[in-house]
Amino acid sequence: MELTAAEPKDKEKLVGYAFYEIYRDGEKIQAGYGVEAICDKSACTVKVWRGLDALCGEQLGGDEYGCGGYFCGAHIYGAPEGQLGQRCFLCRDNGTDPLASSPDAMVVTFGPDGAPVGAAHRS
Ligand SMILES: [Zn+2]
Ligand SMILES: [Zn+2]
Repeated sequence: MELTAAEPKDKEKLVGYAFYEIYRDGEKIQAGYGVEAICDKSACTVKVWRGLDALCGEQLGGDEYGCGGYFCGAHIYGAPEGQLGQRCFLCRDNGTDPLASSPDAMVVTFGPDGAPVGAAHRS
């Protein structure tokens, strides 16, 4: 997974934690880039580490954009433009359907350097 200069600072800080516990769907789970797990896609047996680069959604434990699962590189995708983090194969269209999202979903956050946060596309 390639990170770009547009990644937000607080995310860099979070990535530094190898172990922590979070609540996901009311269940306490261990997470962090030092926590070994299996891709959350059923039937996928690829090993992952529960760091933010494998997390679906913008926040630990999931949010309106993602489910909070951890997925291997084959089952996680970059967030839609203007949003943070990654999305799994199930959630990647969240927030991009104009019928399903509020106008707030169009708000773009700008980082300290003036670049849109989450603008990871630099092709
Ligand atoms: Zn998901
Ligand atoms: Zn997988």
